[in-house]
Amino acid sequence: AAIIEVDNLAYQYEDGTKALQDINLCIEENARVAILGPNGAGKSTLLFHLNALYLAQQGSVKIDFKEVSHQNKDWVRSQVGLVFQDPDDQIFSTTVFEDVAFGLLNFGWEDSEEIKVRVEWALKAVNILDLKDKPPHNLSYGQKKRVAIAGILAIEPKIIIFDEPMAYLDPKGQEEFLNIINQLHEREKTLLVVTHDIDFAAEWADTIIVIKDGKVLATGGTKLLSNLD
Ligand code: ADP
Ligand code: ADP
Repeated sequence: AAIIEVDNLAYQYEDGTKALQDINLCIEENARVAILGPNGAGKSTLLFHLNALYLAQQGSVKIDFKEVSHQNKDWVRSQVGLVFQDPDDQIFSTTVFEDVAFGLLNFGWEDSEEIKVRVEWALKAVNILDLKDKPPHNLSYGQKKRVAIAGILAIEPKIIIFDEPMAYLDPKGQEEFLNIINQLHEREKTLLVVTHDIDFAAEWADTIIVIKDGKVLATGGTKLLSNLD
């Protein structure tokens, strides 16, 4: 069944930039989606709508058949996790543990034992349990990236969006990331990955979305990649 449905979405920034125009998308549960498109195409603006950082000015965005709105944004964020491209945009706490717990605390979790179980599980999933007491700002880029991912995993959203997750990772980091997303696919998550890497998209994804000039240029299976220039 469709877990994300976007109908006639349009979005214009205050300075008049039409970042999205007439976007229509339907994403199936457990899909592995690669989102491609040049810089400035509107990818980030679209992703921000999926987890209620932005609200539709025109058209609608539905998650699990419920329209994203100001009223249900906390619910939306419990369903849709967004891992930013730059981990420094989502790492603030004094220890890795606290950072990964942040989202759960924000959702009102209070039982410290339950939080501990969830956070340690998330840290193990990205292989950094040994870093849990370290201050995150001293970590390497790849380690910070994993802290950011763990913070999202701890919330156990059904949908996880990664904005250019492989950028700046070394080959080993990239391989570890692939392992993580393959495991998440097996856990029946719906995964959206913004990437410029056509080979990765062709190998990993089952659904391709190409965004250009604020519009969906193409959407379909990996076959459409052979028609792109
Ligand atoms: P891509 O299209 O490859 O995702 P973006 O244009 O979105 O690349 O830029 C990547 C990141 O850099 C984004 O997080 C964006 O917020 C940030 N960014 C883009 N342009 C600038 C800029 N001029 N100054 C600072 N940060 C920027
Ligand atoms: P992408 O993620 O594909 O690089 P973005 O969604 O970041 O694209 O940007 C889409 C368009 O909106 C671009 O023309 C960009 O310059 C513009 N844009 C992005 N953020 C803002 C903003 N805060 N104010 C005005 N224009 C913006």
